Amino acid sequence: MDANKLFAAALQLGSEWKVSRSELSAKEHTLKIWLDFQQGHRFPCPECRRASPVHDTVEKRWRHMNFWQYRTELIARVPRIDCPEHGVRLVEVPWARAGSGFTLMMEAVILMLSREMSVSAMAEMLKEQDTRLWRVLGHYVEKAYRREDWSEVKKILVDETSSKRGHRYVTVVTDAESRKLLFLAEGRGKEALEAFAKEMKEHNADPGQIEAICMDMSPSYISGAREFFPKAERIFDHFHVMQMAGEAVDQVRKEFGRQGLLPKGSLWALRGNEWTRSEEQKGLRSSLCAAYPRLGRAIGLREALQEILSQEDPQELRWWFRWADRSRLAPFRRLSKTIKEHLGGIIAFLQSRITNGTIEAINGLIQLAKRMARGFRSFRYLRIAAFLKAGKLRLDLPALPT
Ligand SMILES: [Zn+2]
Repeated sequence: MDANKLFAAALQLGSEWKVSRSELSAKEHTLKIWLDFQQGHRFPCPECRRASPVHDTVEKRWRHMNFWQYRTELIARVPRIDCPEHGVRLVEVPWARAGSGFTLMMEAVILMLSREMSVSAMAEMLKEQDTRLWRVLGHYVEKAYRREDWSEVKKILVDETSSKRGHRYVTVVTDAESRKLLFLAEGRGKEALEAFAKEMKEHNADPGQIEAICMDMSPSYISGAREFFPKAERIFDHFHVMQMAGEAVDQVRKEFGRQGLLPKGSLWALRGNEWTRSEEQKGLRSSLCAAYPRLGRAIGLREALQEILSQEDPQELRWWFRWADRSRLAPFRRLSKTIKEHLGGIIAFLQSRITNGTIEAINGLIQLAKRMARGFRSFRYLRIAAFLKAGKLRLDLPALPT
């Protein structure tokens, strides 16, 4: 078998195509394979499939998988047919989809690699422009996304994520049951929920089917939920309540920090749960709490709140409110007020069977997507990366030769 026949067999070309020439350059590390079609073959019109005579040809190139270390390119004169009904049209080729500069096999490789590495790492490895890779990923994500059926979605989680400096926000909507990412929108609040309500109609779904929306207590989400999902119960998750409690501790800590009273490392020693801290941090934490009762009280309030919210019936919130209200710590008095105002939705979280773990897991995937898309430089890329990581999409991978 000569090399050209071997390449034709490996590429699984149909009978109408053949390899006419190939050229391996050891110096440039390239393999070029020229393809040509059988003279006289009539190709189907891409629109109506009618077999039509070749009108002229256009040269096209596709990046293929490397042949060992050789960067491989297919080059073909692609016929344009003249259909009596649709006029002059470029025919479809079996190894690539229309408009792509990669062969289908190469696209399959790109999709597989995207699970393991960032697009910039992939661009470097394949020596390709990242914009071309994003285009391929975007095509398959979009196609799979369009097919998603949301008719069974009943409970949604609404969360937001921001750029490092907090200048830009993205709203993230997840199905609480399947933990599937459903929707990503620029901005936060009401408009994002309105956009999601509209998008539902594209997925065999309707805003009226949503029974519960789990979200943080920001007024703009609340008003958006009320307006666009009037039948949904509004639930406030404990993850965000505890985030607010953590911020309240931070505010108290800053009073002391401003006076220069806190040694280095205090920030991390005072944050989070005690059991997550190192021995050294624990020691610093308890000595700071002993030296500064206000700080001790703030940490005590945070920990008690966490304990209460982890119980099935948060009856004990009553005494927590009394403690917070008398604590003479303004951040906790404000938090107490906020919790009281949203108490129904905070208690509803317990019955919703949604866990903080679900919310944290989705947050983690979105963080991975941010890294893959290098943050917020382009919302379009962030969206593609997020759906690759968290969308659980059924991507139509081009078939690899078996
Ligand atoms: Zn036609």
